Amino acid sequence: MAWTVTLEEAQQLDAVDPLAFARERFRLPEDTIYLDGNSLGALPKAAPGALAQTAERQWGEDLIASWNKHAWIDWPTRIAATLAPIVGAKPNELLIADSTSVCLFKLLAAAVRARPGRKTIVSQQANFPTDLYVAQGICDMLRLELKAVRAREVLDAIDGETAVATLSHVDYRSAAIYDMAAVNEAAHAAGALTVWDLSHSAGAVELDLDGSGCDLAVGCGYKYLNGGPGAPAFIYVAEGLHNELTNPLQGWMGHAEPFAFVDDYRPAEAINRFLTGTPSILAMAALAAGIDTFDGISMAAVQAKSCKLSQLFVDEVEARCGSEVRLASPPDPGRRGSHVVFAHPESYAVMQALIARGVIGDFRAPDLMRFGFTPLYTRYADVVRAAEILTGILESREWDEPRFRTRAKVT
Ligand SMILES: *Cc1c(COP(=O)(O)O)cnc(C)c1O
Repeated sequence: MAWTVTLEEAQQLDAVDPLAFARERFRLPEDTIYLDGNSLGALPKAAPGALAQTAERQWGEDLIASWNKHAWIDWPTRIAATLAPIVGAKPNELLIADSTSVCLFKLLAAAVRARPGRKTIVSQQANFPTDLYVAQGICDMLRLELKAVRAREVLDAIDGETAVATLSHVDYRSAAIYDMAAVNEAAHAAGALTVWDLSHSAGAVELDLDGSGCDLAVGCGYKYLNGGPGAPAFIYVAEGLHNELTNPLQGWMGHAEPFAFVDDYRPAEAINRFLTGTPSILAMAALAAGIDTFDGISMAAVQAKSCKLSQLFVDEVEARCGSEVRLASPPDPGRRGSHVVFAHPESYAVMQALIARGVIGDFRAPDLMRFGFTPLYTRYADVVRAAEILTGILESREWDEPRFRTRAKVT
């Protein structure tokens, strides 16, 4: 067997890990190795208190006065501003709103409208389904064509007919990462706009949305940002586009003067024009606690640890059981996000057996086991333990039981 890292050696890596302290910011069950923070971030210790405070003190005592007294009305922009260092944007370029799918609809439709006469939306085959469904829906509505091509064909697919190119920065399955600056440059050279989905990037990899010339982006609040199940999403609109783009889902909260109650719509000057209806305050209280888990932490340190964790897992799994599973993520950690996938013909059952042993990852059709490494709370020892347990399950074939083959509604 190839050389492997022992549990003791991994614990030594944890002892000198400059981000080790961040795990204290989360409540995690003792005997669980949680490798699914890329799908649902763990509970920040501050979140239950923030929810209770918002419900009991603000809603309970100050009632409707809270919109002013606790500035609820500004939360979509204030909380968004705390994301600025995480994604490399200016505070005024960000907004918390809706869900990722709805935000994507808003930005794609806004982008298409800003490029009249152009016929296509370019995307990638096997992009996250909601991204393709939203784009298809817009194409059907506006008689455009969705050109979903293979990842390596994206740059060539962008041409003078392209209104907008929309891609997931980190692929939810393989974790392959796009060169954002290169795609933005190609799109701009063709006169098109870009809409990035940062769901598997924000909070996991270092981003420089402004520096890499992004136009528009959306991202998920409940993955690496730890905002809680169904947390609102975020929107990024580069400052230069603020007055050029308008929100296709016009509503009173995006109006320049929502409380003037006038009949005619006039969009707000700033990013709040992308709001539609009343924001979900309780959900935003939890999201704010989630984003605060990054307080004082540099994204360069997060990305560096992410690469080390995922590479340790790949090395350990390949050394221990590399003949049984196949790495289906890019081998170079610099070319992937913060998760890795391994293929195995019985991935569903193997993952269920792992979960039964307290190692929580997930299954992605057709045959992938996905393991997410969240630098704020995953330890090197967790990674080595998870590789050991996976090896044990494959050797003993303990996955080969009917109870591990029954598919649940959510995989
Ligand atoms: C998780 C994820 C979403 C989620 O969309 P919702 O509207 O929150 O359900 C969207 N896009 C990508 C790429 C994702 O990974």
